[in-house]
Amino acid sequence: MNYVILDMEWDGAYHKVHKRFVNQILQIGAVKLDENFNIVDIFDVTIRSSISNRVSKRFTELTGITKEMMLSGIPLTQAVKEYNKWLGKNTVTITWSNSDLYTIAENEKFLLDNQKFKIEKYLDLQKFIEAELRLLGYNITSQISLGNAAELLGITTENYDLHTAKDDSLLCAALLKKHYNKPAFDKLIRDTSDPEFYNQLYFKPYYISNIKDERIEKETQDFYCEKCESKLNRTTKWKYHNNWFNANFVCKECGKKFVCRVSYRQTFDNLIVRRRVLEPKVKNCEVKEDAVQPMSATV
Ligand SMILES: [Zn+2]
Repeated sequence: MNYVILDMEWDGAYHKVHKRFVNQILQIGAVKLDENFNIVDIFDVTIRSSISNRVSKRFTELTGITKEMMLSGIPLTQAVKEYNKWLGKNTVTITWSNSDLYTIAENEKFLLDNQKFKIEKYLDLQKFIEAELRLLGYNITSQISLGNAAELLGITTENYDLHTAKDDSLLCAALLKKHYNKPAFDKLIRDTSDPEFYNQLYFKPYYISNIKDERIEKETQDFYCEKCESKLNRTTKWKYHNNWFNANFVCKECGKKFVCRVSYRQTFDNLIVRRRVLEPKVKNCEVKEDAVQPMSATV
């Protein structure tokens, strides 16, 4: 098994034929690793846009790629052809977060004719590293940047030119070499020929807006008085607003009133339940996290 870490830099440009902005890939950097995660080869190309003679200021600031560098690049079609040949067989393609896959799909759709990036097996390194960080006790809630992850894991980033495709993949390789954990890693390798892979990739999470939805477990709507610990009585109907169901509650022991809220977010493989208790008497409705941890139920 070989591993390739792939990174790309892209810039938005207006596509006159499709009448929309496209995140055109303007740089591909990749590192090929052997089974022990030693670097065996590097792929690094800059791409000439087929739809624009310019690059955005922000893109140049971030990546260091100037308009001149872009204009002296190779066409995307040629870059993809060379990349696919370079990739070889029996390879796991690794990217830092799956956002690269959306950009690849966009480029295939709008800038490439029937030509596709070769991706057979795939692994999201961000997902792997976030899990490792959680094991180390870090509370990772939102998606972590590559640079931040490296620093948390004790890898200095000063020798890397961050936000250039080649160096980002080299930094990924350093992270992987240092924090490889076979069981966790192997579990995250996905086969892109399985239709489920792209179903999951394009699945858009959404909030359930019908309180009677059959996926909802009734107990997620039970709330308890923080003082008496007795179950609260609901005194109004559930009202749906901004992804949350809200209702008034009262404690029959102490008479205290509450506003309780619950939300249900359907992801590809989970129903994420969030609950809050608000005390209506406090000004501005001070928000308190419910004593119950957010529940997650597998569908
Ligand atoms: Zn009470």
